[in-house]
Amino acid sequence: MSDKKKVCMVCGKPSEVSICDTCKAQIQGEALDRKQEVEKKVRVGPEIEKDKAVKHKDK
Ligand SMILES: [Zn+2]
Repeated sequence: MSDKKKVCMVCGKPSEVSICDTCKAQIQGEALDRKQEVEKKVRVGPEIEKDKAVKHKDK
């Protein structure tokens, strides 16, 4: 048996699990945000190129 208190490895607050629910949700949320950002960039990328081409043609 160990007297060592279990704490969340992210925020350091007492927790039964290595990562508490709050931090887990935060990490999952951040991962989701990042994924959406990447998808957005990929989708926006070609549109910016198109926009540049149009502006260049315009001038
Ligand atoms: Zn935590």
